[in-house]
Amino acid sequence: MSIKTYGEAILRKKAEPVTSFDGELAHIAAQMKKTMQEVNGVGLSANQVGFDKALFIVKLSDETYAFVNPELTPLSNETNKTEEGCLSIPGVWVDVERYLKVRLSAKNLEGETIELELEGHPARVIQHEVDHLAGVLIIDRIGPDERRRIADQLEEIKNKAS
Ligand code: ZN
Repeated sequence: MSIKTYGEAILRKKAEPVTSFDGELAHIAAQMKKTMQEVNGVGLSANQVGFDKALFIVKLSDETYAFVNPELTPLSNETNKTEEGCLSIPGVWVDVERYLKVRLSAKNLEGETIELELEGHPARVIQHEVDHLAGVLIIDRIGPDERRRIADQLEEIKNKAS
């Protein structure tokens, strides 16, 4: 699987909810896992590899998990700001503000309901991936100064994609 980069339309589209938890879905998730391992990532959403489906995978303490049709709820108003990168915006690092604690409600690949409470880094990774499925990228969560700083880099990535 090849990773879509900034400038490609699918990254900006809200992902379609998954309705069949079938072999095809499991196959996509397995391929995504392989792709993520190859590039040493910690998270990958289906639209990043060209599938318009509300599915992402994440590496949480050395295990890779797949989450389908995720919904996030912040568990407090507390936030922090840390540098974040994105496989779809290679070489760009920006400070992104995220909730410290979130609850994730999702399905697994079998369609079973999963509820998780996450804090710190895992909470940040999940927020990043859920953003992807809504068509939101890290560069949407930064201020005008940082945007100006990375403008040339973004332009370059976009030109490569087209
Ligand atoms: Zn990303």
